[in-house]
Amino acid sequence: MSDIVAKLKGIVGDEYVVTADMSQYLRGKEQPAAVVFPGSTEDVAGIVKAAYDAGIKVNVGGKVVETKGLKGGIAVVMSRMNQIEEVDPENLTCWVQAGMNHQEFVEKIYAENLYFPPEPYAVSTGSIGGCFGIGDVDTKSFNYLPTRTFILAYESVLPTGEIYKIGTKCIKCVSGYDMIHFIVGTRATLGIVTRILVKLLPKPKTCRAVIADMPSLNAAATAFKAIQKRKIFPTRMNALCKAMGSEVMESKGALALIDLEGFSVSTAQYATEIEAELKIAGATSTKIVEDKAEYDELWAKWLKVREKINLEENKVKFTVGAAKVGTALNSLAGIVGNLEENPGVLVEGLNGKITVFTKNAEVDAVAINKMAMGLGGNVSGLLGSQLRCQAYNDNEMLEELSRVLNSIRSQFDPKGIMAPGIKF
Ligand SMILES: Cc1cc2nc3c(=O)[nH]c(=O)nc-3n(C[C@H](O)[C@H](O)[C@H](O)COP(=O)(O)OP(=O)(O)OC[C@H]3O[C@@H](n4cnc5c(N)ncnc54)[C@H](O)[C@@H]3O)c2cc1C
Repeated sequence: MSDIVAKLKGIVGDEYVVTADMSQYLRGKEQPAAVVFPGSTEDVAGIVKAAYDAGIKVNVGGKVVETKGLKGGIAVVMSRMNQIEEVDPENLTCWVQAGMNHQEFVEKIYAENLYFPPEPYAVSTGSIGGCFGIGDVDTKSFNYLPTRTFILAYESVLPTGEIYKIGTKCIKCVSGYDMIHFIVGTRATLGIVTRILVKLLPKPKTCRAVIADMPSLNAAATAFKAIQKRKIFPTRMNALCKAMGSEVMESKGALALIDLEGFSVSTAQYATEIEAELKIAGATSTKIVEDKAEYDELWAKWLKVREKINLEENKVKFTVGAAKVGTALNSLAGIVGNLEENPGVLVEGLNGKITVFTKNAEVDAVAINKMAMGLGGNVSGLLGSQLRCQAYNDNEMLEELSRVLNSIRSQFDPKGIMAPGIKF
């Protein structure tokens, strides 16, 4: 093992290889031989090639690395690769290193009058590489489309240690299989992404929030439906149960939080129309937030609450699409009990996604999945979380899918060294 540590030190320098007190960089029980901090794509290639030659397992993370299956292996932390390399305002693109902090990236881009909408719940601690590694879908994805839409090109290191580059600034640059977007959500199983060319948007001219104290989550869902019937599709349209809503602001019942980004005149007009629909659905109080500082504070609180419930073990997330949120809420109450009394219910109205706290997630998830599938949706799954998927989905389909995924994976990673905790 000292051989590989010496090799790593030779590649990145002694100060960037840690072999003691590693816990702050790791998540999980198993201990790797070393945590290593590359500073360039060439460093990453050297590390992975050394691991490949020695048949040593590797995993990667923005700041913290998952250690499942990584005993004696190498944990690669990308935080040194944290630079914006090029902003191209005319093509609306930007080359960014994969270890850059997500929040910092969004702020720097915003200062250039540009916009990067993906908003994972761990936005303050996550990295851009992690965002594409997971392939987040967030509350804004209905309007701006999911994270995968925002990758145009990337540079990565394959599990064999070879450097791989694909994509260009041109929107039309895929011939044949779309290998660019294929990388999104692969969770390091196909290698380590080092630099990403992301697609940007112009910064919205203005933004406004509409908040309403609602008698129930169902009343909020009724208002959401009416808003959509008017063909108004805000940027975010969410509701929180009383317990979670009160962490954002004082409320008597459920809290509806609606966000509008866009042009000044239409945004102001939509805000008024939305407020009217919330009142018709029974809002006991409403407010249109125009002040930018207040607006930012509101959505920062929303992100905190969203992160909190997502870190909770005892929760189930499912999607039914925007049109069926009200029906799903009614059925959900039949499974987990009165939603207004629940400590955590979060409704993302546009995605038709509901996150619910439940005392017995493993059991309730099966009933919730059945209900969600009946409405044309399902419980959220995740690459590598095989057992959960098996419990929720069709076994035969899962076996066939696993076979295909494993076959693709072994083409990229013949020795099976990357992301050992991810099993299909
Ligand atoms: C299992 C899981 C599921 C999640 N699902 C969602 C979601 O649906 N919606 C949402 O908003 N947020 C989600 N998040 C949170 C989201 O992933 C984080 O908020 C953030 O985007 C990840 O950044 P990070 O740097 O912390 O990633 P990490 O936790 O370090 O990495 C996330 C994944 O990406 C891989 N990865 C990291 N960097 C690279 C790289 N450079 N090249 C290749 N692979 C890399 C990691 O190995 C890991 O599998 C999820 C997080 C986890 C752990």
